[in-house]
Amino acid sequence: MSTGCPICGKPVETAFRPFCSKRCADVDLQRWLSDRYVVPGSEDDDENPLSESIHKE
Ligand SMILES: [Zn+2]
Repeated sequence: MSTGCPICGKPVETAFRPFCSKRCADVDLQRWLSDRYVVPGSEDDDENPLSESIHKE
């Protein structure tokens, strides 16, 4: 059973997994970025694990 594109539900194109096209990949990226910027005050919860892994290298 194959899963469809999480953005539009169309069959996934291997080159753009897990999306069906670059357009849908861009849409998902935009959602992800705007999600990060929407609550600047709560960044501590998300940033801590990230900066830890960066310091470990
Ligand atoms: Zn799509």
